[in-house]
Amino acid sequence: MKRRKSREVKIGRLKIGGGNPVVVQGMTKTKTEDVPATVAQIRKLTQAGAKIVRIALPDMVAAKDLSKIRTEVDIPLVADVHFNHKLALEAIDRGIDKVRVNPGNMAKKEILKIAEKAKKKGIPLRVGINSGSLERGVLKDHFLKGRVREDEEERYRTTVAEAMAKSALNTVKLLEKVDFSDIVVSLKANDVLTTILSYQLISDKISYPLHLGITASGPPPEGIIKSSIAIGTLLFQGIGDTIRVSLTCDPVEEVKIGYQILKSLGLFKGGPDLISCPSCGRCRIDLESVAKEILSEIEGIKTPLKIAVMGCEVNGPGEAREADIGIACNKRGGTLFKKGKPLRKVKEKDIVRVLLEEVEKMSQEAD
Ligand code: SF4
Repeated sequence: MKRRKSREVKIGRLKIGGGNPVVVQGMTKTKTEDVPATVAQIRKLTQAGAKIVRIALPDMVAAKDLSKIRTEVDIPLVADVHFNHKLALEAIDRGIDKVRVNPGNMAKKEILKIAEKAKKKGIPLRVGINSGSLERGVLKDHFLKGRVREDEEERYRTTVAEAMAKSALNTVKLLEKVDFSDIVVSLKANDVLTTILSYQLISDKISYPLHLGITASGPPPEGIIKSSIAIGTLLFQGIGDTIRVSLTCDPVEEVKIGYQILKSLGLFKGGPDLISCPSCGRCRIDLESVAKEILSEIEGIKTPLKIAVMGCEVNGPGEAREADIGIACNKRGGTLFKKGKPLRKVKEKDIVRVLLEEVEKMSQEAD
């Protein structure tokens, strides 16, 4: 997959853009000033594979608490300060690795004050545009949501996407004027097509890394579908250097889905991949329970392994043979395949145990 060429930006010790692998970002959902809870969640996100964690700094208490959080974790942290630029200045003093600024919520002179301090400390800024808080002036009032007729939907979508890209470009130019170039850009809308369009519009106009995401996409499964389509489409077009899946649920799930998206596009290789058929009238075993049990047991495994669990002899032997380890079920149980070769017959009650033992063995061999 040919990826858009972007310049490299350093977030703490992490390099993004410039041909580096696409990075999955996480976000805490604790009250930041509850330091133990925030630290615990950052650790969980790190364990799930997040390479950057965004934390919200809603007030000065949270901003000052950043020092305590910083000493407990070493993953690069991004501060979201929303409206108050003073919180960003405080965060920079307290060891933040990146600051997100939203020109829809902050005056230009305030953004410049942040940039001045960030530059001295070598900290990048993310110009984070959100369709829900677009800069006044870039979007004409009569296009505001709620007043748009159905036949105007496409025009509205294009207008919002153009406004988002324009707002980002304006802020990028503002930063470039003061010789600030440690920039990352994101353009998030809650609508899949608007999001895709806005990133497409900006992708060839700047060379800074792009952070991808859908905003307020909702709980699973709807949120997963929206995020996967938007982020997946853009990554497939080579656009995107970091991603964050936004879901109304445990943030660890967001990181896991992020990796699933990267794995589906061949942009990340790691951990097992479970291939299982939907099962149908031909299947004689409880395939759903087997697949679910295997999925929960293989969660912590880091070795890239293709595991197939197939319901019958129609596609079963083919898929099981293609996998590293697989089982093609039949009336009495199934046939176990390893690296393309049939190994032995397995009784239904032993399928999960036998497969997991083989997975464990293969994972140890790979270490
Ligand atoms: S592999 Fe067999 S059981 Fe599974 S969906 Fe296909 S026909 Fe049905």
